[in-house]
Amino acid sequence: MTAKLIDGKKLATEARENLKQKIATLKDKPTLAVIMVGNNPASEIYVRSKEKSCTEVGILAKTYHLPDTTSENDLLLLIDELNRDDTVNGILVQLPLPKSIDEKKILSHINPLKDVDGFHPLNTGLMVQKKEGTFLPCTPKGIIRLLKSTGENIDGMNAVIIGRSQIVGLPTAHLLLKQNCTVTIAHSHTKNLAELCHTADILVAAIGKPEMIKKEYIKPGAIIIDVGINRTEEGLKGDVYRKDAEDLASYLTPVPGGVGPMTIAMLLENTYEAFLKQHNS
Ligand code: NAP
Repeated sequence: MTAKLIDGKKLATEARENLKQKIATLKDKPTLAVIMVGNNPASEIYVRSKEKSCTEVGILAKTYHLPDTTSENDLLLLIDELNRDDTVNGILVQLPLPKSIDEKKILSHINPLKDVDGFHPLNTGLMVQKKEGTFLPCTPKGIIRLLKSTGENIDGMNAVIIGRSQIVGLPTAHLLLKQNCTVTIAHSHTKNLAELCHTADILVAAIGKPEMIKKEYIKPGAIIIDVGINRTEEGLKGDVYRKDAEDLASYLTPVPGGVGPMTIAMLLENTYEAFLKQHNS
């Protein structure tokens, strides 16, 4: 079997084009505040890419680049200010934050109506309760879009997610449950991981280990979503060994060009939705 590639770049371009047209009809433009603390090189690349994508669809991006000496209190005060500012529709705090700052405290401080990353406990709770209209975290939301784009009926499929982070693994599990998949979450303590993954009709790899997932993990015909972004000497690698996945799977998201572009497109969508919510439209 030669896996079909799920073209995240193309899907993301379509989503952005659609958004651009909708935003062009608005009187005021949606605004996203992006806060970055310190000089993490990967975060700088992500923030620049988010700014550029915002501009392309007509969202105003306001970036706050703070020094790594910024205190937790200073950051809370900036979020207070942005929470009160009616011209700001979405607030995103680029992770990771310096170790001296409590990430959970910061994310919980964002007004849930401006929480376009979907990490506030209220939005997480609403997602777990399967409520409509909440902000879904961007990467998991993008993963569901990518799966749906295959046209396959995923109802009742066995899904194994490797990774239980708050930003990828755990919310993806909830969203796949909502799609009526039978979901298993694996992590670094999981026993017989390859055997478990080999039962998966949908395998989501969100580990952060370059090319860890090889043929013994892949059920023939599986749909593979490779979330990993690993910078190696040979360039950007996913968590999945592409050749084995191409030989065995039915569908595969490439790295780059799969989950990454969809994550940004979903952030733009969430910012537009935040604007509409705040304008009661
Ligand atoms: P994370 O917080 O470090 O979580 C990694 C997860 O993988 C943890 O749950 C960990 O288990 C599990 N794990 C680590 N080693 C393992 C092993 N040998 N066997 C089984 N499980 C193992 O990472 P994350 O933030 O979720 O991100 C995961 C990957 O996705 C990274 O490469 C990141 O760069 C990428 N990412 C991509 C996008 C995108 O838009 N494409 C967005 C976000 C993240 P424990 O919980 O037991 O430690």
